[in-house]
Amino acid sequence: VTPDVIVVGGGVIGSAIAYRLSKDGRAVLLLDRGAGDGQASSASAGILAPLSEDATPSTFVQLADESLRLYAPLMAELGEATGIDAGYRQTGLLRVALDEADEAQLARRHALQRSRGLAGEWLDALAVREVEPGLSRQVRAGLLATGDAQVSPPALLRALKAAARQHGAEVRSGSTVDDLVRGGERVTGVRIGHETISAGEVILANGAWAGAWSSSLGLELPVQPVRGQMVGLLSAGPAHMVFATRVYAAPKADGWLYVGATEEPVGFDPRTTAAGVSELLRSAIALLPGLADATVWRVGAGLRPGTPDRLPMIGRVPGCSGVSLAAGHFRNGVLLAPITAEVISDILSTGRPRLPMTAFDPARFGSRAA
Ligand SMILES: Cc1cc2nc3c(=O)[nH]c(=O)nc-3n(C[C@H](O)[C@H](O)[C@H](O)COP(=O)(O)OP(=O)(O)OC[C@H]3O[C@@H](n4cnc5c(N)ncnc54)[C@H](O)[C@@H]3O)c2cc1C
Repeated sequence: VTPDVIVVGGGVIGSAIAYRLSKDGRAVLLLDRGAGDGQASSASAGILAPLSEDATPSTFVQLADESLRLYAPLMAELGEATGIDAGYRQTGLLRVALDEADEAQLARRHALQRSRGLAGEWLDALAVREVEPGLSRQVRAGLLATGDAQVSPPALLRALKAAARQHGAEVRSGSTVDDLVRGGERVTGVRIGHETISAGEVILANGAWAGAWSSSLGLELPVQPVRGQMVGLLSAGPAHMVFATRVYAAPKADGWLYVGATEEPVGFDPRTTAAGVSELLRSAIALLPGLADATVWRVGAGLRPGTPDRLPMIGRVPGCSGVSLAAGHFRNGVLLAPITAEVISDILSTGRPRLPMTAFDPARFGSRAA
């Protein structure tokens, strides 16, 4: 049977899209090359913090806010359908300053948030340790955002795929899409080795690898992998997600502590390195000294899909029908997954996304000779 839609890439973006489109009643085929090759979603901290990027344009915050708003109902829906708890918790996010420069930066952030009418409670050195007693005595101040939440990305991935299957989607792993099949100005399907699979629409959601479609689409798609390493610790605290300049720690619903993350432009190299892990642990222990005695539970790394302006590429491709992009979500793909899926659903259903999407136009980096 010819699917209505092929989704290429089974990370959080492709899986959210496959779920949303199959819920719309479309016959969806989700193709993924397979795990263990640098997929960003499995290594992600799953933090849902719309104001995490300091200097982002407001269109990004609007997109991120809307996505966060979609999370609670989506989690309830997925939990009910699949029985999987994807670890959605509104644990709040505490940013702390360890030195004078940090404190000045935190104060600027606080002022910016207030000017946007956003809540955020300023805590002095004493108050911050009342909120998080495990923090180092070096911590001078904190800014608490109670609305920020988090999920467990591996569980979220499982839930999205299971729910998509319930709506009839076929999820195929071990399937590397080698190229797109074009008929004139239309993409008509994909090629996997010698096999061609046709579909009415193809959605390209293959994260850091999305630059591969540049020549077939005649577009500059400057997606670059940015490696992030993380360490999982077994530890009782902290209660909130705690962010410092060099490291953050997020207590996950199933009882472990996520410590992340490096940001390394090292190409398609998904390894976890001695230097990466040692830097994360050193910074985490400086922030929360009690972690010195925690058990190391896991280490990991993923390749974030980075773009030159740090914004995702979501939408149709000019001059070429039957194909859309949903890639380049860099540091916020888990946060942005629900809204990305809604926008792709809007584009396929009515042609009109619910939010202004010009800043995320896949064609903004220019065209390329085919
Ligand atoms: C350490 C770390 C921490 C992070 N923390 C957060 C956070 O707290 N909050 C947040 O919102 N975001 C976070 N991110 C970013 C987030 O993880 C990414 O933005 C998001 O996972 C991107 O999802 P994706 O589906 O586009 O890409 P991926 O998860 O990388 O999925 C892409 C998939 O496409 C497959 N693929 C590639 N090429 C092909 C092909 N030709 N054919 C078939 N399949 C193919 C790959 O195998 C992969 O499975 C973090 C990332 C890292 C690395």
